[in-house]
Amino acid sequence: MKYKGTYEFYSTFIEGLTDTIPITIPYNLTPSKIRALENHQSLRFIHAGNWWNIKNPEKRSKEVILAQQMKLANENTIGFMSKNVQPGDLDLKEEEDRLKKIYSKKINYDKFLYWLLDSSKLIKYYKKNLEYANWARENNNSTIPIYCSIQVNNYESAREWFEKASNDGHNHFCIGVSEFLKYPKYKKVGIKKLFEISLGIRSVINENAKLHFSGVASYYLMPILACFGVSSFDGSTPVTSALAYGTIFNENGYSLRASVLQDNIEKRERFFATANKCKCEVCNGKDIKQILDTFSKDRKTRVIHNISIWRNLVSELNSKKNNLDKFLEILDSRINSKYFKDLLKIKDDALKKYDY
Ligand SMILES: [Zn+2]
Repeated sequence: MKYKGTYEFYSTFIEGLTDTIPITIPYNLTPSKIRALENHQSLRFIHAGNWWNIKNPEKRSKEVILAQQMKLANENTIGFMSKNVQPGDLDLKEEEDRLKKIYSKKINYDKFLYWLLDSSKLIKYYKKNLEYANWARENNNSTIPIYCSIQVNNYESAREWFEKASNDGHNHFCIGVSEFLKYPKYKKVGIKKLFEISLGIRSVINENAKLHFSGVASYYLMPILACFGVSSFDGSTPVTSALAYGTIFNENGYSLRASVLQDNIEKRERFFATANKCKCEVCNGKDIKQILDTFSKDRKTRVIHNISIWRNLVSELNSKKNNLDKFLEILDSRINSKYFKDLLKIKDDALKKYDY
């Protein structure tokens, strides 16, 4: 379980984002966003779309995805994600009944919680995913790598299917993980699965192979997943939380609404009393009151600040990549949160379970 390379985080693209920030874009980007991206010179990762919100499946065929990805590519494009599929058309009555007894009666187990299914029921999908990735690799007319995307759901299926993919010649791999983190009630079991899956994938791919987790931007999960050999991430947390909820993050990944900080001096002091003062282009040279005024007036400044917190984390991962275990220890004492300690415990349990 070793990865020899650098780490990266790709932010969801929004207009006005500083043009040096690595971004992720969908294959079906709208014309207005294509124009907004004309001058954006940063690294970009091109997605294959979310299977659940495509109403017309013909618009998400493997051919359409690859053709659109090639159209959007430029010299800064680092990869195309291959088309992935999850259950939806399988007869899962028996399996659903079993899960409904264990978990909740209200949830659709063949959609977002497909990953709770017995992996023997999912083989048909693993096969399909690998087929799509192999097809994309054969038909890719560019030098941009295809990130082979397979929606495995446990350690064993991760090993089996990513080993097949590696044997088929892939050296860039991907899995969409947002469904694992979607429901608060299932988040802990989802996180456990993600740790085990990353462990399984990294154990069968090359040391220099890239492994991208799409749909996770958690400040607390990224460093742990990096330890398991996940090399890059994409997600919208720093952007959408800033826009939708007015949330800002501090240097330890702790978040609050900027408006709460404006009104509550005690909370404000706790929030900003961290070892590193933020030096992003918004905060630099301002006192706390000025910073909070800026945050409450201009939502874009919250995005810029939050993204800079994520960039700092990526820099730290890269500068400490030879000893990430030590980095996690430092992070643990810096963050000093029960939640993070719980995550570290889940990590240790996963390592023990599989004898690492
Ligand atoms: Zn800042």
